[in-house]
Amino acid sequence: MIPYGRQDVSESDIAEVVEVLRSDFLTQGPAVPRFEAAVAAHCGAGHGVAFSNATAALHGACHALGLRPGERLWTVPNSFVASANCARYLGAEVDFVDIDLETGCLSVAALAEKLAAAARDGSLPKVLVPVHFAGQPCDMAEIAALARSYGVRVLADAAHAIGATYEGLPVGGEGLSDVTVFSFHPVKIVTTGEGGMAVTNDPELAARMARFRSHGIARAPDELEGPPDGPWSYEQQELGYNYRLTDLQAALGLAQMRRLESFVERRAALAARYDRLLAGLPLQRPLVRPGRTSSWHLYVVRLAETAPLDRAALFRALRARGVGVQVHYIPIHTQPYYRRLGFAWGDFPAAEAHYRTALSLPLFPGLTEAQQDTVVGHLHDLLDVPRQRAAGAR
Ligand SMILES: *Cc1c(COP(=O)(O)O)cnc(C)c1O
Repeated sequence: MIPYGRQDVSESDIAEVVEVLRSDFLTQGPAVPRFEAAVAAHCGAGHGVAFSNATAALHGACHALGLRPGERLWTVPNSFVASANCARYLGAEVDFVDIDLETGCLSVAALAEKLAAAARDGSLPKVLVPVHFAGQPCDMAEIAALARSYGVRVLADAAHAIGATYEGLPVGGEGLSDVTVFSFHPVKIVTTGEGGMAVTNDPELAARMARFRSHGIARAPDELEGPPDGPWSYEQQELGYNYRLTDLQAALGLAQMRRLESFVERRAALAARYDRLLAGLPLQRPLVRPGRTSSWHLYVVRLAETAPLDRAALFRALRARGVGVQVHYIPIHTQPYYRRLGFAWGDFPAAEAHYRTALSLPLFPGLTEAQQDTVVGHLHDLLDVPRQRAAGAR
């Protein structure tokens, strides 16, 4: 089976992890701050706060942004459930903004309309979570301007998008979100096994996220509320979690960050090759808007109505032929947990239309051109209508 995504871990990546195993610190040592500095430097952001995964980072960011019980977070239905769950952990309400069907990202028009309505009835959200779907940055200038004018904080879910750029600047360093979160799960662009990071330019937000990550405990003398009992002193100032990344993971992340550019280049080259080889088939190839580059976490095609078989049949046929396609995403609001909160099929038509036709093709740095040709060959075989008619006529 050719998977839809796969990590690329080199011998030198492994050597750097082994070095940590022989060192004094497996966790809370020097590798984590070095990894945080490397990611922040890549983005051009002031601070990086590493977490055990991106879900924890989203939770920490929502807490730091002041999301409280009863307040609201808005995100898109076309994402992984973690984009919404981070609000629920804090007892906050979730609502959704529909997507732009062409990009799979948040629709600015839908956002403008929903914000205006929420301002009228006093139900504005505290936090908005745009998701850089498949690695393509959202319309951040428009989103940031709207959010600012309604006093809404922006938490960008860039789980797919480390290495992407917006108006020439790296995602997370474009200055259009309060916090940006990356994931280092093995299917994402850069991996630490499990891992995540929040980047921000705001030192106060960074300090709050760092404290939340470690039990709510402060240690630095200038952060203590009272005079220290002694050099051993620490204070638990609020309720936090153990959401730390280990030094083993950070060492892998540091090694992977040095390969980020080559990962994204390889993904982009394979995406361009898919674009060429799939032309003429009844499917909509991914569209990247001007002024931005994708990190190409996913290559998502949408099946046209004129296709000779539906998405489910195509999915099954490709899987049966050893092509590990995937579907991104089942709209979050249709999950049983969210339906029990009052959402229903039909609430967000663009996200639902995207879901019904989307298919993610294999895309990862180690995908060979021969494997890609196999995937493309099966797609032509299954979707090329004139060719099938000719075969039927014979
Ligand atoms: C993977 C992913 C997450 C969660 O990342 P983890 O590191 O697995 O917790 C959040 N949001 C999106 C859009 C993702 O794809």
